[in-house]
Amino acid sequence: MKILFYDTKSYDRDSFESARINYPEIEIEYLKSDLEPRTAALAEGFDAVCGFVSSNIGKQTLEILHAKGIRLILLRSAGFNNVDVDTAKQYGMRIMRVPGYSPEAVAEHAMALALACNRRIYKAYNKVRENDFSLSGLMGFNLYQKTAGIIGTGKIGAAMCRICHGFGMKVIAYDVYENESLKDFVEYVSLEKLLKESDLISLHCPLMDSTYHMIQLDTIKQMKDGVILVNTSRGALVKTDDLIEGIRMHKFAGVGLDVYEEETDNVFEDRSDEILKHSTTARLLSFPNVMITSHQGFFTREALQSIAQTTLQNAMDFLAGIYGPNDIIQTH
Ligand code: NAD
Repeated sequence: MKILFYDTKSYDRDSFESARINYPEIEIEYLKSDLEPRTAALAEGFDAVCGFVSSNIGKQTLEILHAKGIRLILLRSAGFNNVDVDTAKQYGMRIMRVPGYSPEAVAEHAMALALACNRRIYKAYNKVRENDFSLSGLMGFNLYQKTAGIIGTGKIGAAMCRICHGFGMKVIAYDVYENESLKDFVEYVSLEKLLKESDLISLHCPLMDSTYHMIQLDTIKQMKDGVILVNTSRGALVKTDDLIEGIRMHKFAGVGLDVYEEETDNVFEDRSDEILKHSTTARLLSFPNVMITSHQGFFTREALQSIAQTTLQNAMDFLAGIYGPNDIIQTH
């Protein structure tokens, strides 16, 4: 089976080449370019393609892939908001993902962002490097006995609940379904109550029509003053212009973002000063209490190994006609 991998970096090649030792039937060709309508035709002669979080797997891309005979699209990610599921269904294409490769990797990064914002670690680091050992501007607050509000308590949100519980925080959560495994230490509340009572709010629900811009001016105004907001899920859960307004209103002690709305626009790949100057992400970066990382929540050794192993197993399951929870279109 020949698979064309899009948007690959050296670490993808390393992890997939190690995992491939157990899958001699699979041949991989690695591309640096991402999957989008202009690059979809490169899949001619392959059996499957593999994309990542920024891949454009919309209608047009799917039409081209279908015309090239591709019946399987592998995603090296958990989220699949970048896929036009209806079109894929219409063409009978299978889309397989890696739903839970290492929830702790992302949850630990969410807590790292919360701690870094709260204790001004980036500022402290820069000050000490400049030989400034004063503590001015570095005061934070104890997380111990404060309230963590977790939105979305699936695999990653549950891991974040456990971490916050370990910090001695009261943990409240909002989800459309309650996670039974958390019932001993998590109290489910309405979104309004969560926004009103939390000292730390962390977003862990997927991006869907119902969650698009769930954090906007109205929801920001309901939050406590001095709250820390962390988003490691998907950028468009937060309306960036409103977040900027909230920061200007001094609503937040800190904002930690691993994901941001412009991620898929490749704003930062085309590093023209003009584009950067006008991007909302650059505007966010101008605030001293905002910390942005570049979608690295998943980026641990363990997670990469697990992504590679599951992705290749997904390809084998496709060949064997086995359907399961990694299929985003449940037909069986
Ligand atoms: P999951 O499917 O296990 O959990 C998602 C949870 O969100 C579920 O419990 C679901 O019921 C809940 N949910 C759905 N709609 C909701 C709503 N309207 N309000 C509140 N909760 C709602 O997913 P997961 O593995 O925990 O991943 C969560 C998200 O994290 C993914 O969708 C992806 O976008 C993101 N992610 C980010 C990274 C990263 O590197 N930063 C890596 C992996 C995943």
